[in-house]
Amino acid sequence: VAPTVQPVMRTTCPYCGVGCGVLASPDGAGGASIAGDPDHPANFGRLCSKGSALGETLGLETRLLHPMARGRDGRMARADWDTAIGSIAQAFGKTIETHGPDAVAIYLSGQLLTEDYYAANKLAKGFLGTANVDTNSRLCMASSVAGHRRAFGSDTVPGVYADLDEADLVVLIGSNAAWCHPILFRRLEAARAMRGTKLVVIDPRRTATGDEADLFLPVNPGKDTVLFAGLLAWLADHDALDHAYIDAHTTGLADTLAGARAMAPDIAAVARETGVSAADLVQFYTLFATHERAVTCYSQGVNQSAQGTDKVNAIINVHLATGRIGRPGMGPFSLTGQPNAMGGREVGGLANQLAAHMNFTPVEIDRVRRFWQAPRLAEREGLKAVAMFEAIAAGRIKALWIMGTNPAVSLPRAGAMREALESLDFLVVSENVASNDTLSCRPHLVLPALAWGEKDGTVTNSERRISRQRAFLPPPGEARPDWWAIAQVGRRLGFDEAFAWRSAADVFREHAALSAFENDGSRDFDLSGLAMLDDAAFNIMAPVQWPVRSAGDSADKRFFADGHFFTPDHRARFVTPKPARLARETSTDFPFILNTGRIRDQWHTMTRTGLSPRLGAHLPVPFVEIHPSDATKLGIEHGGLVSLRSAHGSAVVEARLSVGQKRGALFAPIHWSDATSSNARINDLVARITDPVSGQPESKATPVAAMAL
Ligand code: SF4
Repeated sequence: VAPTVQPVMRTTCPYCGVGCGVLASPDGAGGASIAGDPDHPANFGRLCSKGSALGETLGLETRLLHPMARGRDGRMARADWDTAIGSIAQAFGKTIETHGPDAVAIYLSGQLLTEDYYAANKLAKGFLGTANVDTNSRLCMASSVAGHRRAFGSDTVPGVYADLDEADLVVLIGSNAAWCHPILFRRLEAARAMRGTKLVVIDPRRTATGDEADLFLPVNPGKDTVLFAGLLAWLADHDALDHAYIDAHTTGLADTLAGARAMAPDIAAVARETGVSAADLVQFYTLFATHERAVTCYSQGVNQSAQGTDKVNAIINVHLATGRIGRPGMGPFSLTGQPNAMGGREVGGLANQLAAHMNFTPVEIDRVRRFWQAPRLAEREGLKAVAMFEAIAAGRIKALWIMGTNPAVSLPRAGAMREALESLDFLVVSENVASNDTLSCRPHLVLPALAWGEKDGTVTNSERRISRQRAFLPPPGEARPDWWAIAQVGRRLGFDEAFAWRSAADVFREHAALSAFENDGSRDFDLSGLAMLDDAAFNIMAPVQWPVRSAGDSADKRFFADGHFFTPDHRARFVTPKPARLARETSTDFPFILNTGRIRDQWHTMTRTGLSPRLGAHLPVPFVEIHPSDATKLGIEHGGLVSLRSAHGSAVVEARLSVGQKRGALFAPIHWSDATSSNARINDLVARITDPVSGQPESKATPVAAMAL
């Protein structure tokens, strides 16, 4: 019987934070052909290599299709959903009864849909009574959140993608956008071809993005704040500050400028600290001073740092000082790594946020409690990701639910994380693959989750645009939506009414209603106009940028055009960064600085992209990039095996010699794990050092040793 060809479905790519629209044409036999959605404003029909290979990743061969529970004999055996839900409710309930609510935790993912995130956050913070609910987005952009909140009083991304079309100068710092946000980078390339936009790239490593730059600044690791302190001082010295804007809309410039002058007393000092030549610094500073329409995009090179929040604020400072924010072609712009890191922020999926961008203040605790009718609303912040796993290792957290993420590969000191997971009294993992490194950590229960193409809900991209992910394939086996599993546990614990959702649309409406609840405009996140969508309207909902304050409001929006911020006095804050230094310096034993990151054609731990031979062909084996002169000194040859070793772990990878690498610095991708290679899990080497404000780990600067094998 010939398969029935089904209608084309509009959905959203599950990979990076660009959030491209996808047209999926199911073939009726479990597959689908994939194309870019020409009507989606994030990509206008374009897809990168990963997005266009989505059709090659839809098979069920590697999928988890049934709940599995560990029996008394230690083996995993098929279980039914009813028993599985009962065992979670019992384990979490008993742990809370015996050890208190902070003995349980939920660890989420930027891969989840907003509805899944909302449900988990509500269960933990409202009904279990703990704020120990955090996410792998902590590893991705928590420093941006913290920087926004310090400067703006809210976690608000001011700009929109169209700013790249309208800018005369784009600065990319700590971002290999050509590989990691490829469709946005192509948009920038198109704008450059049209209007000659200047591009400055700042990165310790010369990447495909740096190769396209008009000016490339190879900054020393950890010295970004010096570069931007120097810029602030330069702007002040060259009469390039917007004093009318500063006086009307900001506070704190005098102190921050004094701090900048102390950190960057002159060009020679900045050049010494940053490793960028004085001539290049002057060229950059002059470009910034003379191009009003300037956008500064930053990504993990800024965020994944023990001083990430300070780096974010150093960038925001120069935009506030020039009044270049909230207007076309201007502003600081955080490029989020994951497809729904932003949605997680919106629902409060971070342990230090409540919900709908509300915080742990008495007024907002009370507001959320009343809205949810919550019996046990958490009244203080929970543990951020790294601290959460330290509490697990110390035995303070005894029951954990992991959803859609692979912390046994992705967290710093990943090997030690495995031991922590294995020590739990109760570990439940919601996954859509049958095996990965986290699933090898002896969970007590494994739940089959729906995957991309099967699940239904919303995601938010880097420019605050909410798009629908729609199901175009039937649920395989007994796989269920994550929000549904969470709701069942909530109901089993006795909270029927609070978790009575029948669909993702029900969850989304409640999320939108909470954003609107007692919101007189004093909170940035507002979906009032979407709170009454009926199911049919939710099904056809077009991509829309928040805030959506009234029904039918579909205009694209920038924030802060009126100079009105979400601080108590509505003024933005200048923030003075602390002295720039690496948390761990090199030593005789560990003479190299290891930088970690992504490659063009793989995503996270490769559970989906690894299924595509085409994607695997790009860079097929785990590797480390090293400067040729360092390689020569160590007898390392291109293609030879290298042993990497830090104070915490080791890995063996292939050498790639690259002049884009600074001497004394190495780069290795994060994608490989025990499931895909032997002894190539790079996060085993990374230290457990975090930014004191954001809690984001330092993934870009670990001292290591390298040796030819
Ligand atoms: Fe997907 Fe990002 Fe590529 Fe767009 S740029 S197709 S969202 S991976």
